[in-house]
Amino acid sequence: MQKYTFFMINKGNKLYSIMNGSCPRCHEESMYINNNSYVLSDTLKMHERCSHCNFKYRIEPSFFYGSMYVSYGVGIAFAVAAFVISYLILGSSLMVAFISIIGTLVAFAPIIMRLSRNIWINLFVHYDKTAAKTN
Ligand SMILES: [Zn+2]
Repeated sequence: MQKYTFFMINKGNKLYSIMNGSCPRCHEESMYINNNSYVLSDTLKMHERCSHCNFKYRIEPSFFYGSMYVSYGVGIAFAVAAFVISYLILGSSLMVAFISIIGTLVAFAPIIMRLSRNIWINLFVHYDKTAAKTN
């Protein structure tokens, strides 16, 4: 069970599952074995199935390879944010802006990887009220 929620997003909203990494079908359990994505050995370790609704996360073999497409887009979003903050808001030089982009991508890599997986699985799996209630 997740103890926290971001931005007051309720269960049933796809963003809840994406932000919390919870089961895309019932939103009741975390997909990840370790809730801290910065424990690097555990960043991509996931449960085989949801303990609440028994949903199998790896829908097909190497399902999560597809999340690499998503991570490209998510990475761009972080890079653009880093550029806007350093170059446009803080008025840094282009070189410093470039370094801050690299630094941001490295520092947020675990979050980017998990976000991508969460978005990827949520493209295919939708919230199921009855799955949330059973068990
Ligand atoms: Zn579930």
